[in-house]
Amino acid sequence: MNLPPKTLWELQEVGKDLYSHGLVTSHGGNLSLRSGVGMWITGTGTMLGRLRERHISFVHPDGHHEGPPPSSDTVLHSTIYAITSAQAVTHAHARHMTALSFDTDLFVPPDFEGALHLTDVPIIAPGPRQTEQIASALQSRLVVFLRGHGAYARGNTVWEALHWVMALEESAQIEVLRRSISGRA
Ligand SMILES: [Zn+2]
Repeated sequence: MNLPPKTLWELQEVGKDLYSHGLVTSHGGNLSLRSGVGMWITGTGTMLGRLRERHISFVHPDGHHEGPPPSSDTVLHSTIYAITSAQAVTHAHARHMTALSFDTDLFVPPDFEGALHLTDVPIIAPGPRQTEQIASALQSRLVVFLRGHGAYARGNTVWEALHWVMALEESAQIEVLRRSISGRA
């Protein structure tokens, strides 16, 4: 499979945005785009802020891949594409949301933008059923959160998936600030 230049450019730009906004550390997170019956996905352990063509893998419907070993989240991305209309998926380690995720099953954004776009965000507990739980939650939500780990967002484009991850982390940061101002733990 030949990686279309536009796809490479989109993954590079979104990867740079995630890294420069502190939504992933040097080697964290992953990105994918649906392509026909398969998908383009970042390789395992790649640096999202420094993506090159050699870091992008193509995964076929039967699971075999071309290019570098795909992300360790490949089965989750495939499951999301199988049961939702997502065209792109972004995974990022949003730190304020991670801090808030330990004590709740649902995050309700306190700010106008977050409430408008996201309404509420399910927090999934890590475990043997997390793949199917994250994918099914994304049938009705734009973004869901794996407790203590990170966000998974879907979009019609990779830009849209980036938007939902950034909106969630902004809301989480506002919630943390709000709690610190009001003295709540
Ligand atoms: Zn992760």
